[in-house]
Amino acid sequence: MSEPALQFPHRRYNPLSKQWVLVSPHRTQRPWQGEVNAASGFSEVHYDPACYLCPGNERAGGAKTPVYEHVYVFDNDYAALLPDSPAPHTEGWPGLLKAERERGVCRVLCFHPDHSLTLARMAPADICRVVDAWTTQYGYLGRMHEINYVQIFENRGAMMGASNPHPHGQIWATEHIPDEPAAESAALADYHREHKSCLLCDYAEVETKAEVRIVCENDGFLAVVPWWAVWPFETLVISKAHLRSLSDFSEAQRSSLADILKQVTIRYDNLFSTSFPYTMGFHQSPTDGHAHDEWHFHAHFYPPLLRSATVRKFMVGFELLGMPQRDITAESAAERLRAVAATHFADK
Ligand SMILES: [Zn+2]
Ligand SMILES: [Zn+2]
Ligand SMILES: [Zn+2]
Repeated sequence: MSEPALQFPHRRYNPLSKQWVLVSPHRTQRPWQGEVNAASGFSEVHYDPACYLCPGNERAGGAKTPVYEHVYVFDNDYAALLPDSPAPHTEGWPGLLKAERERGVCRVLCFHPDHSLTLARMAPADICRVVDAWTTQYGYLGRMHEINYVQIFENRGAMMGASNPHPHGQIWATEHIPDEPAAESAALADYHREHKSCLLCDYAEVETKAEVRIVCENDGFLAVVPWWAVWPFETLVISKAHLRSLSDFSEAQRSSLADILKQVTIRYDNLFSTSFPYTMGFHQSPTDGHAHDEWHFHAHFYPPLLRSATVRKFMVGFELLGMPQRDITAESAAERLRAVAATHFADK
């Protein structure tokens, strides 16, 4: 599927969010500078006495992180959501000033006691433990009466605002389905009604045939730079089977997920020889009591880096006011991620 017009400015449609992205490939016709960075962003400190996520250390507010061996989950000491927020009474207020109660839970999941590790450098068995913990948390929080959506995510790197390099992620469980998954939920349901099939099952088939946007894959998962990618090296990890949520996974599928997360993050780190920053998170079935057969589990990686370990993309100007824009095409981003080694540069 080669189309010369795609070398000129055009826009691409994201059927999941029903939004467009402007692609301007002619701006990258200048030769690649081939910038090579000294390996950076890695800590060789396995235990940091000042890190509140390292085993045995005190956290702000007086709580103590116990000496843990594998994973450790706790309620965020400064949670953005509380389980018992009262309902605002705004009767008689102007309709334009709308507020709703939002009850919820925020948890922190430490992936590993070793301060220096990242998903890219953790042992596969240890990443499996993280996937198991995500599965348990999704099930547990999702069963709570007032919780209708469970958002699992990881913010990696200071550039993404991660305050602590210790390997960890967060789980925010909310009373309402947040806007991003709510938009996808509607799009998946619309597609299902219209085509009598699943949007992401169909999309995985399109990408498998096209090949050009595939970064890597295994038995259970396909990682692609999606057709509609906004961030330069954004990837979408799609389960090959139609799984609505982590609760539908077999043990083999859980370890496949662990494996694909390692593969993708290794390629990211190798791209600019750095500990690659990103926000990664899962989108999966809401936990509002409905079956949601239209839902298809997937992970989004949104990394900010553009040309090197320090040059990042900003969403400003036309992007804030109009629509997102990118220069490098999804196809060339995928090609570059495929071209780097499958083994982590720091583990050679
Ligand atoms: Zn630590
Ligand atoms: Zn599907
Ligand atoms: Zn999504």
